[in-house]
Amino acid sequence: MPQLEIRDLEVYYKVPFGTIKTLFGIQLDVEKGDSIGIVGESGSGKSTLGLSIVRLLPPNAIARGHIFFNGTDLLALPASKMKDYRGTGIFMIMQDPFNSLNPVKKVREQLIEALRIKYLRRNERVPEESLYDEVLKKLKDVKLPDPETIMDRYPHQLSGGQIQRIVIAMGLLLEPSILIADEPTSALDVSVQAQIIALIKELQDKYKMSLLFITHDLSVAYAVSEKLLILYGGRILEFGNTEDVMNSPAHPYTEGLLKSFPRGNYRDGKLYTLQGAPPLFTDLPNGCVFNPRCPYAFDRCYQEEPGLYDYMGRKVRCFLRHE
Ligand code: ATP
Ligand code: SF4
Repeated sequence: MPQLEIRDLEVYYKVPFGTIKTLFGIQLDVEKGDSIGIVGESGSGKSTLGLSIVRLLPPNAIARGHIFFNGTDLLALPASKMKDYRGTGIFMIMQDPFNSLNPVKKVREQLIEALRIKYLRRNERVPEESLYDEVLKKLKDVKLPDPETIMDRYPHQLSGGQIQRIVIAMGLLLEPSILIADEPTSALDVSVQAQIIALIKELQDKYKMSLLFITHDLSVAYAVSEKLLILYGGRILEFGNTEDVMNSPAHPYTEGLLKSFPRGNYRDGKLYTLQGAPPLFTDLPNGCVFNPRCPYAFDRCYQEEPGLYDYMGRKVRCFLRHE
């Protein structure tokens, strides 16, 4: 059984002029140890997907469908029960690390508090010194220099890179089986971005977690993932083995993204920019959501929406791949 099974997930946001639908029939299986890169342009629904899984969508959102975590449907749980799964089962690293920590508590207090919650849920009693040692060990794991000093600091006394490492340490302390990282370096200096990405990957392997890595950057997804999910207009357009998708994209959108991506074996030497912009959820085209930008669109593409078809070991939402 997959660790996580997402079935028919739809998300709507209530806005002053009505309701907009932003995720459409998402189906996804996450197997133990999977690393999945979730790639899409801004507004494609990536964060909405991640936040749905940990049930941290904003109050104006409505999620329908099923998200089974080890067989339990998270979407059907009362909010109070969801606390047993968030953090200790599935941990999400957010885009802006400063929002993940309490500004008025020292790092030490926050990490020890997280640990206490873990042991409380397991009904285990652990002495305070052991909690401290465990926190210190994890701060070393995330390669924070001088962790003893850092534990006595408040978040505002630390850099964005240091805070993101502390948030990752907090995740590790909770021992989640699934780690979701939502553009974890977008708020950080370019100089530390690559280090944080490499750290997440290293720790995923070390602690045997599954990883859902959300990014708009195909090269980052290529570096961290073994499976690639391409999201566009709230739909999965392609999902498959990262190497296969990168070497022979099956969806015209993936092909366009790859042609503008500087990696040797798909480029033909010409500069290429994907024409047009992603659709607005308030004004989606009829038929295939990609038809306004698709160089291969034909009559049917303007009348009917393609399904997510099985094609050469992957899933592709395009009539051209429906045999
Ligand atoms: P980005 O890379 O810019 O973070 P994304 O792919 O993560 O984008 P989402 O943040 O999931 O996309 O947003 C998907 C759509 O949902 C967007 O059109 C966005 O405007 C809309 N949306 C997100 N949050 C809300 C909200 N709280 N209320 C109304 N609409 C929202
Ligand atoms: Fe292009 Fe048609 Fe395929 Fe959509 S279904 S991606 S418009 S060819």
